[in-house]
Amino acid sequence: MLGQIHKAPVLLGSATPSIESYFNTQQGKYKYVELKERYGGLKMPEIKIIDIKEESRYKRMKSHFSPQLIDAMGMALKAGEQVILFQNRRGFSLRLECETCHTTPQCVNCDVTLIYHKQINLLKCHYCGYSIQVPPRCPECGSPALKMKGFGTEKVEEELSLFFPDAIISRMDLDTTRTKYAYQKIIGEFESGKIDILVGTQMVTKGLDFDNVSLVGVLNADGLLSYPDFRAFERSYQLLAQVSGRAGRKNRQGLVLIQGYNPKHPILQWVIEDNYPEMYKQQIQDRYTYKYPPFYRLIEVSLRHKDAEVLNRAANVLAGMLKPFFGKMMLGPEYPMVMRVRNLYIKNLILKTGKRNEAAQLKFETARQIEKFLELPDFKSVRVQLDVDPM
Ligand SMILES: [Zn+2]
Ligand SMILES: [Zn+2]
Repeated sequence: MLGQIHKAPVLLGSATPSIESYFNTQQGKYKYVELKERYGGLKMPEIKIIDIKEESRYKRMKSHFSPQLIDAMGMALKAGEQVILFQNRRGFSLRLECETCHTTPQCVNCDVTLIYHKQINLLKCHYCGYSIQVPPRCPECGSPALKMKGFGTEKVEEELSLFFPDAIISRMDLDTTRTKYAYQKIIGEFESGKIDILVGTQMVTKGLDFDNVSLVGVLNADGLLSYPDFRAFERSYQLLAQVSGRAGRKNRQGLVLIQGYNPKHPILQWVIEDNYPEMYKQQIQDRYTYKYPPFYRLIEVSLRHKDAEVLNRAANVLAGMLKPFFGKMMLGPEYPMVMRVRNLYIKNLILKTGKRNEAAQLKFETARQIEKFLELPDFKSVRVQLDVDPM
């Protein structure tokens, strides 16, 4: 849009373009230039998948690390090289669990589990900031047998220091980069070789080029692949390809070890082969079959209310009003993954629209129906939010 306003050409560059952008090149809407060699003739890293189901079965895992990963890390450190470990945050953070009744403390305002933060020694909600002290006994059954479960980057960092007591380990995630210069500081220290092992979330995957990184480890690929979203596979491919690209600079080939429970997953195979076109081919077929972008546009209608029953009725009424226009092209109403945030319950409707003219007409109609809906006396306090092309 900015290019259009300024009558300027726009250049998009990526090794892992979005399905939509690549589709536009295939349709001739964008011109396409392919770089077939890596910058400076750099070799692609060697990528290996480690079947952690198999390793667990034979009890060879050391906590969350396979022996292959531990060995490779030891070798890299011995050679004076650096290591990056990637751990996606989603669903793998530390939480408190009662061993007797399996209760985990939840946020009082949101429908999520509280996450343990060691530095402040509190259980904290990532959605609203609510926090509590770690209770000495289970709030449900009174049992003192409480245990920390799951693992986040903080836990990974802590465990690593047991395996590699002499290595200097640092962590890069939302928690360690909150202050203004923290991000630059960690990058600077890693670049100058003051840090041996960098543990991080998504943040370590983006555009950082370090000369001395010979090994990249991905602790669990399944957390990415199993995310319930139509873009989950595309995103997994992008993240894994990007984090792999951090390994091996200048003179030698790097090594990437990806741990996972489904080593045969096609996405992992395409990452190994550096095969974006195959990934695209399969994804675009799915998008066509199941009516998703770029063939259809999505509108997400999100309803919120503090009373779950009012919300349910409201969602059904609005769905009924929109049904005549969308028919099968309406999904829901459904609760999202996190169904309550800041004391408001949430329900979503997904509307799909086809070609341009039709889309404009349907958008107009949707807005009109929502306006009508908000005039209904029962639902005046329901909040409705529209998101066109949700990401
Ligand atoms: Zn309990
Ligand atoms: Zn909360």
